[in-house]
Amino acid sequence: MSVRLDCPLCAAMVVDGADDLAPGACASCGARYEGGEGSAPDAVQAALVAFGADALDAAAVTDAVFRLTPAESAQKGVAITSDARDDFYRWWLFVRTGGDGDAVAVLSAL
Ligand SMILES: [Zn+2]
Repeated sequence: MSVRLDCPLCAAMVVDGADDLAPGACASCGARYEGGEGSAPDAVQAALVAFGADALDAAAVTDAVFRLTPAESAQKGVAITSDARDDFYRWWLFVRTGGDGDAVAVLSAL
């Protein structure tokens, strides 16, 4: 198994050649990524729990994040992407809060 993940917010390579991938943060822009599920809605649901934002509606957040243009994603600091691995992929929700910013506030503003 070889996993590669690029940050959708700053385009930096987050991981390349890993055996597997756990939630973490982009070393370049500091965005946290959570999720890691096989479908985008499942990944968003898992990420909302991890970010402490599970009061938000996962379906609505999934819909909103897929509607963002790259410029809007960069401005809001939220993006979803999939990793690349041998024969399938998993989805990750990236949230950039800046310093000690609040991921719940960022996600609530979508
Ligand atoms: Zn980044």
